[in-house]
Amino acid sequence: MAISTSVRTHEPSLFDVAVEQFSIAADVIGLDDGMRRVLSHCRRELTVNFPVEMDDGSVQVFTGYRVHHNSGPGPTKGGIRFHPDVTIEEVKALAMWMTWKCAVVGLPYGGAKGGVTCNPKVMSQNELQNLTRRFTTEISLLIGPNRDIPAPDVNTNPQIMAWIMDTYSMHHGYSIPGVTTGKPLILGGSEGRAEATGRGTVFITQEAASRLNLDLGASSAIVQGFGNAGSVAARLLHEMGVKVVGVSDSSGAIYSSDGLSIPDVIAHKARTGSVGGYDGAQGMTNEELLVQPCDILVPAALEEVITEHNAADIKAQLVVEAANGPTTPEADRILYDRGVVVVPDILANAGGVTVSYFEWVQALQAFPWTEVEVNERLHRIMTRAFAAVYETAQRYNVHMRTAALCLAIQRVADFTRVRGIYP
Ligand code: GLU
Repeated sequence: MAISTSVRTHEPSLFDVAVEQFSIAADVIGLDDGMRRVLSHCRRELTVNFPVEMDDGSVQVFTGYRVHHNSGPGPTKGGIRFHPDVTIEEVKALAMWMTWKCAVVGLPYGGAKGGVTCNPKVMSQNELQNLTRRFTTEISLLIGPNRDIPAPDVNTNPQIMAWIMDTYSMHHGYSIPGVTTGKPLILGGSEGRAEATGRGTVFITQEAASRLNLDLGASSAIVQGFGNAGSVAARLLHEMGVKVVGVSDSSGAIYSSDGLSIPDVIAHKARTGSVGGYDGAQGMTNEELLVQPCDILVPAALEEVITEHNAADIKAQLVVEAANGPTTPEADRILYDRGVVVVPDILANAGGVTVSYFEWVQALQAFPWTEVEVNERLHRIMTRAFAAVYETAQRYNVHMRTAALCLAIQRVADFTRVRGIYP
């Protein structure tokens, strides 16, 4: 969801932030200088400027990006976002985080990301389709089922994945379902993929709560962002008896200390287009929502919403990052000093890419799994990853972001070393 005030337009860039997080963890594991140089760069950065014919007959030129951070363990993997604030620095940071995310949960992928600077909310379906197909053509130099596999991200969805898959397939003359994940079921999408990010976040919340002796049935939660990750996380938390007291989308937030009926909020949003104006709740801004009383805070929108300006005011004792990059390094330090546990994005939202991996495996084998199989395997991977990160945090006496990065960087460094440098 678009929350424009969260966008970093100043130095350091979002990529600088990703490198800073990397360096902190690299220090902890004593990574050698050569490997630091390799892993702190993105391997490939493609910028494309391409024309799209709009419904009024005018021609607009859009700028898009596809970045591969590291392709050591296998094909690169990562979503494509459509948003007015997309920049190359943001896409590079998100690509690096995808490398670490895949490594944390043990997927055989490197990290990538893509984005187009555009406002899909003011574009027709026809314009979006034209933009998607032309962008796919422009980045077809890099993508492919064995090279680089896009997926949904902010403001992209199964229909857009279908257009990417179709465009790529038309260029090759036969259907290639493995080129994207997050496709509609009818095109070889996976059961459980649409809910996977939110479901994974909730599995992680359960693990974290049990380590903190937090009784979920007696806890309250705020979910900031009501897109694919946030709305599912809010619904699943509500279903398991957590009192969801606040939610938001790009147009604003609602809060009620008595708790919200999430199915009703979902219906309200489907009817009116936003969560705002929901009966029986107080309206407020996204910024105000983040500092309302609750036990668990799930940022599920854009990056850099928890900063040095509000970290001291966060009331939650547990922050579970469904968004990518919602907490700045300064805020991380403040929250850690205050004893607030932050489960980082590269672990907490890895359910999406994990089920993307399942979808890719099913596409390559042309053998679909049931939803129960998908969710059981997802649960196994997420709980195993949580335990590994938790133990690493204790071993090094660091917060969970640094612990998750230590684990991921060590894995990526190990196979980079074993593969060696060519030539
Ligand atoms: N965009 C999601 C993420 O940031 C999913 C990526 C994928 O499934 O490849 O993790």
